[in-house]
Amino acid sequence: MKKTLSFILLFSCGFAAFAQTDIDVKAKVAEYAYYDLKTDVSKLSDNDKKLIPIFIQIADIMDQLFWKQTYGDESDFKKIKDASVRDYIKINYGPWDRLDDNRPFVEGVGEKPDGCRYYPLDITAEEYAAYADPDKGSLYTVLRRNEKGELTTVWYRDEYKAELTKVCALLDQAIAIADDPGMKKYLSERKKAFQTDNYYDSDLAWMDMKNSHVDFVVGPIENYDDKLNEAKASYEAFVLVKDEERSAQLAKFIAMLPEIQKILPCDPQYKTFVPGTSSDLNVYDVIYYAGDCNAGSKTIAINLPNDDRVQAVKGTRRLQLRNSMDAKFEKIMLPIGKLVLDPKQQGYLSSDAFFWNVTFHEVAHGLGVKETVYGHRPVDDALQTEKTSWEEAKADIVGLFIVCHLIDQGEITGISIEEAITTYIAGLFRSVRFGAASSHGKANMMCFNTFKQMGAFKRSSDGVYTINYENARIAIGAWAGFILATQGDGDFQGAVDYRSRYGVIGPELQQDLDRINAAGIPRDIRFNQGLKTLGL
Ligand SMILES: [Zn+2]
Repeated sequence: MKKTLSFILLFSCGFAAFAQTDIDVKAKVAEYAYYDLKTDVSKLSDNDKKLIPIFIQIADIMDQLFWKQTYGDESDFKKIKDASVRDYIKINYGPWDRLDDNRPFVEGVGEKPDGCRYYPLDITAEEYAAYADPDKGSLYTVLRRNEKGELTTVWYRDEYKAELTKVCALLDQAIAIADDPGMKKYLSERKKAFQTDNYYDSDLAWMDMKNSHVDFVVGPIENYDDKLNEAKASYEAFVLVKDEERSAQLAKFIAMLPEIQKILPCDPQYKTFVPGTSSDLNVYDVIYYAGDCNAGSKTIAINLPNDDRVQAVKGTRRLQLRNSMDAKFEKIMLPIGKLVLDPKQQGYLSSDAFFWNVTFHEVAHGLGVKETVYGHRPVDDALQTEKTSWEEAKADIVGLFIVCHLIDQGEITGISIEEAITTYIAGLFRSVRFGAASSHGKANMMCFNTFKQMGAFKRSSDGVYTINYENARIAIGAWAGFILATQGDGDFQGAVDYRSRYGVIGPELQQDLDRINAAGIPRDIRFNQGLKTLGL
């Protein structure tokens, strides 16, 4: 209990004197570029226009609940005089920098508690382990102390009762007016879930909702904010509007996957797996982010639900967030491309190409080999610690290979092969800008260095990159074939050797990345959002 008290005391009396640390918070705020979340409102029905304002009100409550979960009382910070510090607290939902390993940027707040406010601040891993309660690890409970200081378990429906009562009243309004039967059913089940902390039926109902033009992801969903046990779900909401045209195009391509699998550039034994064609992959404009998903770095794709029992029956829905992708392209990738690419090739940077590359990265995860050719072991088991890097490299390169193929076939229109390749290469700089320590980072570096090795691009002595499209096309095919064979053979040692050699950032590239970071190019995005931004 002692630690809790000193923490609270420090907060309550340290406030007037609150000053920022030596971190330049103003520069930190500028690293998040503003972007307006919009959609074509002329495509919204009258019913959609009635639902959206209600969804936004519910989303705002999710936002308040996430504040309570991750930090506590937001109003603690009202007295801080520096507007940039207040702004950065808002971006991070607390005084810890989410893009910098949760480093504190407000004097005196100390380290971010691993268990946020899902647990008492003074709980230890030992105390948690010794606490015998079957519900302690539930996604939907918090741990608190009773008057004797002993741990107790409280369900979200009780802990957040005041807010959730308002949510349910708003859901009643939405249920009454929703004219899509799938949406009506989903909202009704979701309301029950908020009241019972059982989300199973509402997840099923969400998967069954196939025809609604608007979508609403809402509730306690991801568990990454709980660094103590990764057990507690954080409240969040996305309000989404389906891009019917792009979704229909995508559905057509998904139906072509068994044919596409056959043309992959590898030996026949690596392409015997028959990909599913029933996956629920659609394109949306997001019009509102709230809570967990609005904190720090913003996602450009969603894959839900997380409950494997639901996944076993219904699969998952993958949502590609078109306007957020455009935002990352416009605010981050385009300026990076303009800094490092040959001016004659900069015109090939394209937000449409970025969209298709990212989307086919997702699609490519479902292609290729799932079992080793000899021994029929899952590829993941065979490649052990290398599995994620190689799977991500595969998704990138097989995805790019398919985009180029579909452009050749006249299926993807409006972009050229040059645009797909140029945009992909600029994207590598964006991805490894903050290092290559993660599996994704290593994958990106293997792609970068393999391309370089195969002459897909050349770097001038002053750090300007010129792409050779002919070589790039050859490199895509050869590298895709090599990855698929490594996975299909389950060649763990080969994977380690290749990754150790090519999965690293060389000194020249590091200079270029330093140049990008010094140029003040944003690291992420934040949103202007709401009815006014939408023009509703
Ligand atoms: Zn991936």
